[in-house]
Amino acid sequence: MTDKSKKRTLKQDYKIISRALKLINTSTPHLLLHINIFTFCYSATYVASNYITAAIIDELVGNKSIKKLIILVSCYSLEILFRIIRDKSWRKVRSFHIIANKWEEMLLNEKNFSMDYKNMEDSRIKAMRQTITDSSGDTARFSGLVGRLVTFFNAFWRGILAFGVSLEMFFMHSDRILSGFQRFIDSPVATLFFFAVVAALTFFDYKANGKYSHLIADNMKKCSYSGRLLHYYLNDYLDDSKTGKDVRIFSQQKLVNYSSDIFYNEWKRHKNAWLNNEKKKGMWHNGFWVAMTALTYLYVAIKVYIGAFGLGSFVKYQWCVSKIASATFLFSMAVADLRANNDFLELFFEYLDIPSEMHYGTIPTEKRSDNKYDIEFHNVSFKYPNSDKYAIKNLSLKFKVGDRIAVVGMNGSGKTTMIKLLCRLYDPTEGYITLNGIDIQKYDYEDYLKLFSVVFQDFKLFSFSVGENIASSVDYDEDKVWSVLEKSGMLQRVQSMPKGLSSSVYKDFDEDGVEISGGEAQKLAIARALYKDAAFVILDEPTASLDPIAEHEIYSRFNDMVKDKTAVYISHRLSSCRFCDRILVFDNGQLIQDGSHENLLKNPYGKYSELWNAQAQYYSEKA
Ligand code: ADP
Repeated sequence: MTDKSKKRTLKQDYKIISRALKLINTSTPHLLLHINIFTFCYSATYVASNYITAAIIDELVGNKSIKKLIILVSCYSLEILFRIIRDKSWRKVRSFHIIANKWEEMLLNEKNFSMDYKNMEDSRIKAMRQTITDSSGDTARFSGLVGRLVTFFNAFWRGILAFGVSLEMFFMHSDRILSGFQRFIDSPVATLFFFAVVAALTFFDYKANGKYSHLIADNMKKCSYSGRLLHYYLNDYLDDSKTGKDVRIFSQQKLVNYSSDIFYNEWKRHKNAWLNNEKKKGMWHNGFWVAMTALTYLYVAIKVYIGAFGLGSFVKYQWCVSKIASATFLFSMAVADLRANNDFLELFFEYLDIPSEMHYGTIPTEKRSDNKYDIEFHNVSFKYPNSDKYAIKNLSLKFKVGDRIAVVGMNGSGKTTMIKLLCRLYDPTEGYITLNGIDIQKYDYEDYLKLFSVVFQDFKLFSFSVGENIASSVDYDEDKVWSVLEKSGMLQRVQSMPKGLSSSVYKDFDEDGVEISGGEAQKLAIARALYKDAAFVILDEPTASLDPIAEHEIYSRFNDMVKDKTAVYISHRLSSCRFCDRILVFDNGQLIQDGSHENLLKNPYGKYSELWNAQAQYYSEKA
């Protein structure tokens, strides 16, 4: 990242910033205008007040005209006007600054929702997402950009206004006859020389600033990475009552201390480097700043000394010239910081720009009340991204409407992958899948997904109410929710909850929320799948957390639950697959057997018989 940012040209940096500003405009319109109004008024307030003070001193030292003095004093009201406008714009800028982090999170979430699923699982993209999350804060990305733009325009307006007010000074010359060094100071060459030195000091300050800002950005990223890992051990791991058990039983304290020490030392090393770079940045900046201030004082003081203007104007010009100098410094610092902040913005945009490679078709799926949807795999093979191994190999398979299909096989044999391909979380590497004879890639994606209801092994329930979880919506049909709860065996449990369907699942957002067991969560997930009322119901290891009685209940009601739908049922417990009229046996990514329980057992050397015999000893009941 750091190397990359160093290679970015000014034009590329400008493009990143203008893209960010366009995006900000969608959330807070005219933010750049408000920054400009704020910084202009901010600088104008001070320039005006200084100008008026100097004019009053000049008048008091010179003509002492009461009328002019009254006019000058009343000019102070200008300052009040500037302050009112300034504060109004500042509130706009500040309010965006406050929401920037949350707004970024929303953009990330939107991207996560719309991203191809394969990218969600890609380790490189996961790492990008993590770095982005780690580097959130008031000083990075959008809030960082706004903060630095305020500095940038502050410097800009301060410099322009101070220059405008003091411009005349550079053309004011002494009436005296001068010679030597004094004559040189009074000449236009000295003015040019003065600005050349200001430019040189600014350039060196800019270079030092740029170098240390990039180093600091790099230190920040490394620090937040090791800090996150350290936090995992110190807070997430040891603070958690569940892991607390394992830590004690397996005496893991030493292991945890060892790992946390490593990350603590790493974090400390990066933090120290960060502070060290901050110190160096400050030292260089202060050094240049002192040189610049000394130069401006010297220049203006000598101009007074040689009689180019009076003492009254000294206040005004010295103030203005020192503001020009500080503005150039601030300006260069803002540019260096803006470019360093682009390291973060660039990564953020890189993430938002991850292309979608999935083909999203346009054909709507046929809406059929008889659920006559025929799905067929045509010689499908599939490799996960960044993997050389086929997870599915030459799969040809047809689902007949109303089938009750069990999918069995060893761990890693490709069962879940087949479901992911069916639901288009991934597209086949070779071959294709059809729905009613048409390649599924040609169907409108969202429409196609409506055909499937899946309970994955790693399903997720959210801290919403029971009803919202089941319907995946704020509005739901209560009777239908109760009916699916009854089918999944959760009716009585939910009825006994204090707020019934409105009871929150878990206690994250609601003190009165209900904690549910793994088995109960699984039943709620099954109820959710039934509520969707899709043509295909797919249950991936649906009873793994259920006790034998609950498991038996699910099987005995299974036909009633799925009715005329096509049901695919993945399980390790072969005894629980017998109610299915068709069993698919997977091995090493290939479909090696397809038939009924009885037929498959007829082949004593087949994989199914091997698996069945290995498990049969656990069941008192014979096949
Ligand atoms: P099963 O459901 O039969 O246990 P899977 O379909 O989950 O098996 O996995 C099939 C193969 O694909 C395994 O070798 C597994 O390691 C691999 N695999 C599964 N998910 C991924 C993934 N996201 N990235 C890479 N390989 C994966």
